[in-house]
Amino acid sequence: MLKINNLHVKLEDEEKQILKGVDLEVGPGQVHAIMGPNGSGKSTLSYVLSGRDGYEVTEGTATLDGIDLLGLDPEERAAMGLFLAFQYPVEIPGVGNMTFLRTAVNAQRKARGEEELSAGEFLKVIRAKAKTLKIDADMLKRPVNVGFSGGEKKRNEILQMAMLEPKMCILDETDSGLDVDAMKLVSEGVNALRDGKRSFLVITHYQRLLDHIKPDVVHIMADGRIIKSGGPELALEVEHNGYADILAEVA
Ligand code: ADP
Ligand code: MG
Ligand code: MG
Repeated sequence: MLKINNLHVKLEDEEKQILKGVDLEVGPGQVHAIMGPNGSGKSTLSYVLSGRDGYEVTEGTATLDGIDLLGLDPEERAAMGLFLAFQYPVEIPGVGNMTFLRTAVNAQRKARGEEELSAGEFLKVIRAKAKTLKIDADMLKRPVNVGFSGGEKKRNEILQMAMLEPKMCILDETDSGLDVDAMKLVSEGVNALRDGKRSFLVITHYQRLLDHIKPDVVHIMADGRIIKSGGPELALEVEHNGYADILAEVA
């Protein structure tokens, strides 16, 4: 599924190297978590995978189902089934949430050679999915994320994910700024999308998210590399002892 090999990334306009040889393989249906100190390159990894401007890959590869991701436009990556839920979801004034989602869903269906959903079909699907995520009809009509609370924005990201039915989902600190109830809702939304085939890369600072979204593998990232991988117990170790022990062990 997702295969990252010796990935090196620097900022386009500066010499600063951010990723210094990331290796990662996420199999079908697996959930991998990435934890790590601030500034270690976790967000950069998710941006580079989704095709954001401003970064330059200087070495290494990233493929999804054997296809080179790094050579594709962000739209092509999305059509292949890659989805990134943002740490800071953007507000889009003037564009209704429902219109935005219908355009995104139909653009993706078109790119995959599938028929577009009619207004009626789309409405049926979105209403059902919004209900599970406790998103009310009013939020669907408002401009995308404008005036949404932190929790509402994150729930809206998960709604987008549910509507696009990606095969590889990357969640970058989707839990940051969420209270316990909102975190539970978001986790339930993610868990509802687990189906044995769809894979997840969950970037988080907190072990408690991983109580709800049970990972198969936990990775620790520091200074642009994955320095340790293990089972869910690794997240508990971080929660109790912080990163110092692991950093010292690797050094
Ligand atoms: P994390 O998500 O693990 O906190 P980031 O990927 O956000 O880490 O950042 C990794 C490092 O790269 C940090 O030192 C950060 O300041 C730097 N960085 C990332 N993007 C930029 C950018 N566009 N301009 C300047 N520095 C950046
Ligand atoms: Mg950060
Ligand atoms: Mg980050």
